[in-house]
Formats: sequence, C-alpha cells, structure tokens
Amino acid sequence: MSTVGYDIPATIGMPVAEVETPALILDLAAFNENLAIMREALARYGVRLRAHGKAHKCPEAAKRQLLTGGATGICCQKLSEAEAFANAGIDDILIANEVTQPAKIERLAALATRIRLGVCVDDKAAATRLSEAATRHGANIACYVEVNVGAGRCGIAAGTPAAELAAHIAELPGLSFEGLQAYHGPAQHIRGLAERETAIGGALDRVRETLAALGARCIPCPTVTGAGTGSFAYEAASGLYQEMQAGTYAFMDVDYGRIEPLAGLTPFRNSLFVLASIMSTAIPGQAVCDAGLKSLAVDSGLPSVFGRGDIVYTGASDEHGVIRDPDGTLKINDQVRLIPGHCDPTCNLYDHMVVVEGDRVVDIWTIDARGKSF
Ligand code: PLP
Ligand code: MN
Repeated sequence: MSTVGYDIPATIGMPVAEVETPALILDLAAFNENLAIMREALARYGVRLRAHGKAHKCPEAAKRQLLTGGATGICCQKLSEAEAFANAGIDDILIANEVTQPAKIERLAALATRIRLGVCVDDKAAATRLSEAATRHGANIACYVEVNVGAGRCGIAAGTPAAELAAHIAELPGLSFEGLQAYHGPAQHIRGLAERETAIGGALDRVRETLAALGARCIPCPTVTGAGTGSFAYEAASGLYQEMQAGTYAFMDVDYGRIEPLAGLTPFRNSLFVLASIMSTAIPGQAVCDAGLKSLAVDSGLPSVFGRGDIVYTGASDEHGVIRDPDGTLKINDQVRLIPGHCDPTCNLYDHMVVVEGDRVVDIWTIDARGKSF
C-alpha cells in the first residue's frame, strides 16, 4: 500500500484541489493536442518523429507519443535512461549521445541484443571498442556519426572527417552505419526567428557537406537525425533530414514560451505544471508557496504562474517560492499552477506525473528514468 503524500501525490479520481503539493501535473488535453500538432506537421513534411524521452523520462508519456503521436521511436540521452525505457517495453531507442566508459559499452551491447538500439559516435577508437563489445555479445549496434553542426559540443568535423569515421564504422563487425546525428542545441532557444533560421542554415550546410563526402565514398546514409522544438520546421523542410528529435513540444516551458514560434504552425500549449500551495501570506503584498529549488529547475529562469498576469513568482529558495501578489489575491492553501522555466530537469525531480482532465486526477504515470543520468 502506498501512502498519499508520502509515496505518491494523489490517487486516481481525486479532485486536483486535494493533490498533495508540490506535484508535477500534466494537463492531458493539452498534451494530446501538442502530440497532434507535431504529428500533423511532420506528416506534411514527410519526416519521422523520434521523440526525445529526456524531456519527461516517463515511459507512459513515450508510449502515447508512439501510439497516437506519430513517433516511430524515441531518443534517450543516457544509457541508464534507455535501459529504463526498454524495461518498460519500448523497443526502438537512439541514445543521441556518445557512450564511452568501458563498463557502459558492455551494458550497451547487452541492451542491443534486446531492442533496436542506436548510439552516437564521434571517435574512431570509441567505435572500435563498441564493435568489440557488440561482437562479444552477438549484438548489432546502430551507429550514427555525430557531426558538429555548430553547437561546438560533441561531434566530429563535417565533411571528410565525418565520412572517414562512417567508413571505419561500416567495416567493423557488430556495427552498422545508420546515418548522421546533426543536432544544433543552442540554436533551439534563439529568440528571433530570422537569427534561428540563420543558425540552422549553418547546420544544414555542414550536413550537406558531409552527405557529399559520404556520396564520394559511395557510403549510403539511411538517416539524418536531429532538430528540436525550436527549429524542427527548418530541418524538416530542408530535404536533408529524415528524423526529428523534438521533446519539449509535448509540454513547453517558460523558456520555450519566450521564443518566436515557428511560422505556419499551431503553437504548442503548456501542458506541464508544478502544482504548488500557498503556505504563508504573513507579509502584505506577498504569498509564499511550497515549491522552490527542489521542486523546479531554474537554470533557464524562474517559473511563471499559469493564467495569472497579475502575480509574479520572484524568488526560489530550497523549499519556498516567493510570489509578488500586490492585491493580496492569494490565501493560505490556494493552489497555483507554475509553468517550469525548463521542463526536462523539472521532470527529473519527480517520481510521478499526476495526469489531470479539468479538475480531476485521471491517471498517475511513473517517471521511471528519473535520476537515471548514468
Ligand atoms: N536532440 C538532442 C540530442 C537533444 O539534446 C535535445 C534536447 O536538448 C533534443 C533533441 C530535444 O530538444 P527539445 O527538447 O528542445 O525539443
Ligand atoms: Mn531542455
């Protein structure tokens, strides 16, 4: 028996007003609408969706993306995250990241015997070690050469170096060269559309250069994969990419709310909130809620209060959130829905997602990969 308020924040059927806070809540109607917007947009472009599970770390959310959201597979960012999704029954996963530690490579090869598993590579010796482990386990590991398309993080240089690495992979037993990982992270959050398009234009040039270098060596490139919520329309329309890796689109957050939306697409809605309760109004003009730094990621800024232009969340400490409420509208035990500054690290703080329809709890999804950052 799990205890509400200790093990879980709510039970199914409970009114939202009774949910123990702080709790991560998902507005199911808004989530489903976001899934439909993305599914229809990508169908128009004729590209696939490999939804990024790092946004939620929640297998049930991923299953909705696969069953109704048009996704054909998911991404993870870490091996242990991929293991959690695989253990929950998801069988097509790309770790959109490099995995290099020897013990992890061993586990990765073992996982590749259970599901269709991809991983990124930007180094020849790392590819050789993946091949040795795959051979030992009798596995096939789908390898994507990560190209530095402008983010300046992981990724080999575009053109000849990337093509030479692909050739190396193609010759190694236990590995297949499946394509290019070409994701430009910083470009996603550029506020202005024109500047964002220019940044992605640079990424597209590097993909083009790499495809030409592969073509010159007669190496087929089945898939170019990448893109996120801020930019996917550009990659999808380029004719160069086959697969989009957006994650945040399903939830949105304050930071993504600040960027100019992609043209010609229905904007995504906020579906993810931290439900908080007011615990003190002792100082006039101010209310204090029970969600601070341990309940909300603030790396991309403070949360905003959903549906309330008149009150502002102005400061987070470990266990408290200070809300400026000049007219004294908030009373003790009132609830507020906070839109997280950044959805991905916020989900990582919770074991459960409380799914709501209107004012009622309709489901509770476990965030199985929460804390799985190995
Ligand atoms: N692909 C990779 C490799 C990422 O690291 C991320 C997010 O950081 C994404 C895709 C998804 O981006 P978003 O959540 O902005 O849609
Ligand atoms: Mn993010």
